Amino acid sequence: MNCVDLHTHSIYSDGTATPDELIQMGTACGLQAMALTDHDTMDGVREFTRSGRDRGMKTISGIEVSSLHHGHSLHILGYGIDTENKPLADWLIKLQQGRTERNSKILEKLIGMGINISPEEVAHLSQCGQTGRPHIARLLLEKGYVTTMNQAFTHYLGKNKAAWCSRFVYSGAETIDIIHQAGGVAVLAHPCGMDPSMKTQPQIIRELKERNLDGLEIEYPSHSRKGKKRLRELAAQYDLLATGGSDYHGTNRKGKLAGCGGSICPPETIMADLADRIADVRRKPQLI
Ligand code: AMP
Ligand code: ZN
Ligand code: FE
Ligand code: FE
Repeated sequence: MNCVDLHTHSIYSDGTATPDELIQMGTACGLQAMALTDHDTMDGVREFTRSGRDRGMKTISGIEVSSLHHGHSLHILGYGIDTENKPLADWLIKLQQGRTERNSKILEKLIGMGINISPEEVAHLSQCGQTGRPHIARLLLEKGYVTTMNQAFTHYLGKNKAAWCSRFVYSGAETIDIIHQAGGVAVLAHPCGMDPSMKTQPQIIRELKERNLDGLEIEYPSHSRKGKKRLRELAAQYDLLATGGSDYHGTNRKGKLAGCGGSICPPETIMADLADRIADVRRKPQLI
């Protein structure tokens, strides 16, 4: 099968599996390699790497950073980053504080609407790492305010909905720079998501390439065949790496790991291409 999964979430952000459980699941499904890409944190990566070593799964360190590029909300994946990198850890603190402040504001808005969710309940559910809107969505579901996780977003938590609050994020260019500085490569996550008609992407990808973007996540469950074809053309035009992953969130979102019944199966050859790019980045002096 020779399948890899380079986009997964654990309890260290808004997934429901531990890093070790992810490795166990991937191993059971015969995956050749995996990356943990939690939102705005690398807290789970050490556990993930250790578990991969113990269970014979090849792993790559990862992160999924929320960012903004000319008004477009982008997720940028970082691969091969040094988890001990101090400048990156310091840089992430501001992003993580933005999450904490945003979450409090959301709870205040909900209270204003007569919906009582306490910070303690959110913290209890979140357990560790970074807390996101899916944790609040889960509580809205458990308490019967909504009937699905998706409804929590369409009624309350989605952009400009009743309990929407923005938060601090860095620009896409700043995000690419810090990932490079920490020895990793920067890949634009789920690029079809920002505009299913694919009209917006060519310009954004060109601009991000000018700011040293390294790759595009092409194999992704919700990407259409047409969308992927267009992304492959753009990857060839701009010499960008083509990666892929399931964006598995456990029971917080519909979907399965690649190779475990999921709808995609990125080829194992991605790993060699990634290794080459990571080596390229590390050869260049970083100016940050
Ligand atoms: P946050 O990182 O706190 O801004 O929350 C964004 C995360 O919420 C995304 O990365 C998804 O994992 C999740 N999400 C966004 N929309 C939905 C939805 N409609 N249903 C379930 N999860 C969602
Ligand atoms: Zn998520
Ligand atoms: Fe994402
Ligand atoms: Fe993700």
